[in-house]
Order: sequence, then structure tokens, then C-alpha cells
Amino acid sequence: MLKNDMLEQWDRDNFFHPSTHLAEFARGNAPQRVIKTGHGSTIVDRDGTELLDGFAGLYCVNVGYGRQEIAEAIAAQAKELAYYHAYVGHGTEASITLSKMVLDRAPDHMSKVYFGQSGSDANETNIKLVWYYNNILGRPEKKKIISRWRGYHGSGLMTGSLTGLELFHKKFDLPLAQVIHTEAPYYYRRPDAEMTEAQFTAHCVAALEELIEKEGADTIAAFIGEPVLGTGGIVPPPAGYWQAIQEVLDKHDILLIADEVVTGFGRLGSMFGSQHYGLKPDLITIAKGLTSAYAPLSGSIVSEKMWKVLEQGTDENGPIGHGWTYSAHPIGAAAGVANLKLLDDLKLIENAASVGAHLNACMKDALGDHPNVGEIRGEGMLCAVELVQDRGSRTFYEKPGTASYPIIAEMLKAGVIARAMPQGDILGFAPPFCLTREEAERIVSVTADAVKATLG
Ligand code: PLP
Repeated sequence: MLKNDMLEQWDRDNFFHPSTHLAEFARGNAPQRVIKTGHGSTIVDRDGTELLDGFAGLYCVNVGYGRQEIAEAIAAQAKELAYYHAYVGHGTEASITLSKMVLDRAPDHMSKVYFGQSGSDANETNIKLVWYYNNILGRPEKKKIISRWRGYHGSGLMTGSLTGLELFHKKFDLPLAQVIHTEAPYYYRRPDAEMTEAQFTAHCVAALEELIEKEGADTIAAFIGEPVLGTGGIVPPPAGYWQAIQEVLDKHDILLIADEVVTGFGRLGSMFGSQHYGLKPDLITIAKGLTSAYAPLSGSIVSEKMWKVLEQGTDENGPIGHGWTYSAHPIGAAAGVANLKLLDDLKLIENAASVGAHLNACMKDALGDHPNVGEIRGEGMLCAVELVQDRGSRTFYEKPGTASYPIIAEMLKAGVIARAMPQGDILGFAPPFCLTREEAERIVSVTADAVKATLG
């Protein structure tokens, strides 16, 4: 269908690509690649080049490429009923079944799931629900949202504000005034090299307490965080972090939103990051792994505590004034049902835990002693290699990407995709859960060769 010699030119002339250097791309100076197909952990481009996808697309194709079970479920749904809305009590077999499957897997205190299309819109929903909740409880001043520097929560107006990365704010007049940021739980970049993990956790907690004190707890509605920082550098939290943060939030009656767009449905080797770290969130954001990106679908899982207040709100004010045309889209829902079933049937979460541990261990063996490798960290099927100019003094490269961009390019030549994470020199890995041990070893050997070829 796409056999057309003009395709690459059409791409440069017409396609506004997200997260791309627009001018360089239009001029033909930035790379392009037309992806044609995929199988397992591998994608294949239009020229027939096979690439082992060490990032599962954008950490989303968790079950791997080419799953016919999901494709067939999508096709069957499209043939039977491609669309109907979910407003005023309408549903489909797929959307109702999926809501039950999600709640069966979520922590026990969660009550309902609202379906959207993307991680960004699910977080927009969450903030609206938090504001609604506090209005119904008669505390209209309690509206600010605390997020973390280096958190990633989307790129809409509110969610781009929640995101704590400069690129998503600069020249967009963000963040919005209701959003405030606190310390990232990033032990490797602790302010004082002598700090232990426990001391660094205490430092993050003190920073949060200080912020709450300064702003006033009665003005702060919620705290949002990813169980493991994702786009901000793939950073698992320091020991005791979540327990200590949860205590502060409980003390000040501040809601917790666990953004599990990356961690939900198995990436840490547990169903949810909330279970992995013992969190008790009021809202959980889900997207990517819900359908393994076979169709766009996201969700906001609402706790029983919040749900009761939402019910009170509609008793007092009428139907909730929130909904998208594509909420609970039947094709997305059918993909979700087939995807969650496949995760169970093939024991893919168990595989993510064991092959992820192997990937991390091999990466440490191969690169742990390299003078430009500051830290290798990970959890489940997530791994990061942080590059530094000088390991002893933890001197970071002045310009982000100095080391990571050439390494990623070198790896591509050898047929492996890794991601240069923004705002640093961090190689990120988040492969599909079906990755084999041999594929994990190949990712590691290609990474090690590229690091050595580039940095010596
Ligand atoms: N939240 C997290 C933790 C994410 O990693 C992402 C995307 O990477 C989002 C939200 C936004 O999701 P989307 O790109 O589907 O809007």
C-alpha cells in the first residue's frame, strides 16, 4: 500500500512529527525512518532493516509486535460495532469487560475506571476529578498540585505543566500557576555525595514538607508521581521514599495520584507500581500497557474514597460534566481485553521480571566499571545507563546528549534501539516483556560496544 518513491519526500513536506527538530527534519538533515512491520521484540522498516526494539516503541508495546490475538480482537470488534459512545450509561461488552479486568488487577481500595485515549488526557481527567472532589467537600481553596522535577505526565496544558522537564515548558508559557514542583527522588544526583539513601529520602521529604508549609496545606489538593521516574531518567526511588511521602500526604490530607502509564500492567515485574512499592493512591493513571498500544486507550482508576464524593457531587449537581467522544472506544477496549488476557496466558509479567533482572545484571557486568558510566539502575523491565564526564566527581556533560546521542546512533547501526532520555546523558531501555535472555544479552553487547567505540 505504501510503495511510493515519493513517501520520504511527502514525509518531509507534510508531516508535523511530535518531539522532533522541525526545521532540521524539513530541511532533510534529521533522520527519518518509515516503519513497516514488527514481530516479537523486533521492528522492520520499509527497507527491510530489522531493529531489536529496546524501548518497546515508547515503552508501550509490552506484549511485543505482531500479536494476532489482539489484531483479531480489534478486527472482530470493528466488524461488529466500530463505535458507540459511553455517555449516559452506554457501554459495550468490551468496555464493561475491560473495566472489570482492570479493577480485578488494581489495588483493593480502587473502585471504578474512567476510560480516555492517552496518558495525557487521563491525567487531565485526574486533575479535574481532584478539583471537583475538593469543591464538593466545600474546600475551593485546596487546588494546587505538587509534581516532581523530572516527572513526566504528558504534554497538554495541565499535564505539560505537571511534567517537570524544561523542554516541555520553555516557550509554551508553562507551567500553569496551579502546579508546583518539588525535588526529584534521584539519588545519583543527590546534592551531597556523602548522603546515604536514607538521608537522601529524608532530604526529599523535608523539601516536600517545606513546600507544603510555604504554600499552606489548605491550598494543596494532590501530589502526582510515577512510582519509578520514567522519561525523566528511569530512576527507581531511594529506599523508603514512597512510604515516607505517603505519610506526609496523609498528614496534610493531600491526595496521591500514581501515574502508572509506564509502570501499570507489569513493567516493574508486578501488576502495578503501587503494589510494588506499597502505595495507597487515590487515583491511578493507566495507558500504554493497557492495550500494549495496539489501540489508543487510557484510564483513570478512582478509589472508593473519591468515588463516594463523586457520587455525592452528581446527587447535588446532576451528571458529571466530563466526557470525551472516544471515552471507552470499543476498538480500544477490545484491544485491552485481548492484551490483558495475553499477559496472563503467556506469563509475560513473570518474564518481564526475570529477563529484566538479567538485562540489568548483564549491563552492570559489561559496563559497570567503565570510567564514563556513572550509574546503571533499573527495576523490572526498565534499565538506564547514566553517562558522565568524570565518574569519580560525578561531573555531568555540560550539554545533554553529548555522549548519549552518538551512542544511540552507533547502536542503531548495529540493529538495536535504545532511547537517549531528555535532560541528561542517559541511555534508556524498556523492551517488550517477551524479550528473551538472548535478546537481552544482545542489547547489552551492542550497548557496550557502542559505549566503547564512542567514549573509549
Ligand atoms: N504519564 C507518563 C508516566 C508517561 O510516561 C506518559 C507518556 O510517556 C504520559 C503520562 C503521557 O501519555 P501520552 O503520551 O499517551 O499522552
